[in-house]
Amino acid sequence: MRLCRFDDDRLGLVRGDEVIDVSAVAAKLPAQRWPLPLGDQLIANLDRLRPEIERAAHGKTGKKLSQVKLLSPVANPSKIIGAPVNYLKHMEESKVDPGISQGREVVSIESYGLFLKSASALVGPSQGCALRFADRRNDHEVELAVVIGKKCTDVPADRALDMVAGYAIGLDMTVRGKEDRSLRKSVDSYAVLGPWLVTADEIEDPDNLDLKISVGGEMRQNSNTRMMIFGTRKLIEYATRFYTLYPGDIIMTGTPEGVSPVEAGDVMHAEIEGIGAMDVAVRAH
Ligand code: MN
Repeated sequence: MRLCRFDDDRLGLVRGDEVIDVSAVAAKLPAQRWPLPLGDQLIANLDRLRPEIERAAHGKTGKKLSQVKLLSPVANPSKIIGAPVNYLKHMEESKVDPGISQGREVVSIESYGLFLKSASALVGPSQGCALRFADRRNDHEVELAVVIGKKCTDVPADRALDMVAGYAIGLDMTVRGKEDRSLRKSVDSYAVLGPWLVTADEIEDPDNLDLKISVGGEMRQNSNTRMMIFGTRKLIEYATRFYTLYPGDIIMTGTPEGVSPVEAGDVMHAEIEGIGAMDVAVRAH
């Protein structure tokens, strides 16, 4: 199942090149009162809602995908987790390119662990990326994004994929500089998620997916998630040794080699096998 959030927070079922509006199902979620539970309540209830979504869409035609504005398929993650230097060739390019390393020592994820991006940085493809610090280098990083489906902690790798609701394309946008990674990757609109959520049952092996991104038609990154140092299972195991994951939490699993700058006016085209493709425009803040 492919689920999107579109236009003015409509819930959509994506079929072929159409979006069928199934917002009536989301309206059945329990009313909330303070204090709100952590996490995304649509994702938390997804297993129960799936048959209702199928029923709501039955026999209906939708809008063309090209005519809707796609927002982030996850509305309310409690956190967005980043995996730094999780591809060897990206580690190598970071060591030789001072524009990436900024003079810091570059080591792999095994030493760095994970970092957090602000949940307020999250946007969908239609919203684009609004660059701040135009005098500094701003880079694209295409990444497989794993969306957690269940509250979980201390998850062993062999059960990790049971915790996954689905997958999307993530862009871990980054302004280069001396500040801590978490700050530089938390700028508003520097976490792009889209074009939709593909539920986990449609992805046989998240650790064997082609992923790529081009800018203005020029290929910049083109790899496969099997090149990850920590695969999806190990990332979930590692993360849950430190903190509880909540439904809707997003793990951006790291980026392959080829990270490079974007500028206002560019259009990024990102694709991941089994998920889809999205165009994301870059503009000035
Ligand atoms: Mn990254």
